[in-house]
Amino acid sequence: MSRTDMRSEYDVIVIGAGFAGLTAARELAHAGRRVAVLEARDRIGGRTWLDNRLGLDLELGGTWVHWTQPFVWAELRRYGIGLAPSPEPRNAYWWDGARAVAGSPDELLELLNRPNELLSARAREVFPQPFAPLDSALLADFDRVSLLDEIDLLPITAEERSLLTSFWTLNFNGVIDDAAFTQALRWVAITNGDWKVNFEACATYKIAGGTRALVDAIRDDTDADFFFGTDVRVVDQSGDRVIVATANGRDFAASDVVLTAPLQTLSRIAFTPELPTPVAQAAERGQLGLGTKVWFTIEGEHPAFVAMGAADWPLNFFQSEYVKDGRTFVIGFGRDAHAIDAPDSAAVQSILNRLVPDLTVLESVGHNWVDDEYAQETWPMHRTGYLTESLPALQRPLGRVRLAGSDIADGWGGFIDGAIDSGMKAARAILTTPHSVTV
Ligand SMILES: Cc1cc2nc3c(=O)[nH]c(=O)nc-3n(C[C@H](O)[C@H](O)[C@H](O)COP(=O)(O)OP(=O)(O)OC[C@H]3O[C@@H](n4cnc5c(N)ncnc54)[C@H](O)[C@@H]3O)c2cc1C
Repeated sequence: MSRTDMRSEYDVIVIGAGFAGLTAARELAHAGRRVAVLEARDRIGGRTWLDNRLGLDLELGGTWVHWTQPFVWAELRRYGIGLAPSPEPRNAYWWDGARAVAGSPDELLELLNRPNELLSARAREVFPQPFAPLDSALLADFDRVSLLDEIDLLPITAEERSLLTSFWTLNFNGVIDDAAFTQALRWVAITNGDWKVNFEACATYKIAGGTRALVDAIRDDTDADFFFGTDVRVVDQSGDRVIVATANGRDFAASDVVLTAPLQTLSRIAFTPELPTPVAQAAERGQLGLGTKVWFTIEGEHPAFVAMGAADWPLNFFQSEYVKDGRTFVIGFGRDAHAIDAPDSAAVQSILNRLVPDLTVLESVGHNWVDDEYAQETWPMHRTGYLTESLPALQRPLGRVRLAGSDIADGWGGFIDGAIDSGMKAARAILTTPHSVTV
């Protein structure tokens, strides 16, 4: 039998079973298309992953959602899934640029308020419609501006500068030297110009039952065929149908392909024809979200706290989440996945102790998304120039192949919401494009 005879024929191939791929697959299958979902991993969820670690089900990737995020909110309502709030912090600790300070969460929020309001004052002017970022009349003026340069220009105190830089390092989950000012403005614009609502959206409400509850609900709502351990290495559009070949020797053919692999991973796939130059360059440049998320336990049951260190510490933000059996479970974020080894509990403790001296770290874990070949980034945060130089090309159809995913979303790009938005958009585009035929 020739390879062609063994080829699996579908109407649409969806590459990747994260939120974007699952949503696209569901929409296309509901519309009567025969859909194959090809996923390199052995699980669905992509950069969201609820896994049992340290004796609890912990979110190793994407976690928090909010009612200001229309696409994920609609999915939660659709499947009757509620929210699980993170604990309200009682204590706060921070680095004022020279020393550690202890205070209340409100004091810390107040210290962040003035600099953030100054920084984001023009957010709604630049992005009057945050779900249409490319329509902004001011985009060309702002997109090459660096966030760090804007922070440097602000008339703020040394303490405010230290905190503001750390806050945006947290938001970017990366080194912010080349961070796009437009990305910060987009974030604030999408919560109607209120940075505090955005902060709430980023770290307050988890999905009841975890992200697994929602990805399972979407998967159970589609009769698409799922193929796990199918790492796509070839996407060939030289014939009438798109041929997709995987590392384990399988061939698939379809009229249309939705490709949701994260931006940096596109270079693992051989495309015929080659990717357009701006797309290939965007993949090569990659996103800034190259940081880490670490879970650890500390001895004793402590009142909930948050702690913010200096931007360049290997972990610069801490938030406690659970208390159980004499232990407190804490999350730490840092800007560089290679600056700290998640299981190195002694290193975690030494950084935490710079802010809160008496805490003892017992165990720590995490998933290194940056060294994970199917992710190579955490949440996608843009470099200067991304919206003008890369996003238009990434959003255009590449023949019968459409890119989708949180990297290229219009609204809440970088979030679960953006992934769903983008998956819906790709499915709709295929369903309304004349060449799309059923087999
Ligand atoms: C540590 C961390 C914390 C985060 N926190 C939040 C948060 O609190 N709230 C929030 O909204 N968002 C958060 N995010 C972001 C959010 O998780 C992502 O934006 C979103 O899940 C991305 O979905 P996606 O479908 O676009 O991509 P992915 O989830 O990455 O899905 C792409 C899929 O494609 C697969 N794939 C890749 N290459 C291939 C290939 N060649 N062949 C076959 N399959 C392939 C991958 O295995 C993956 O399953 C976080 C992310 C991380 C990593």
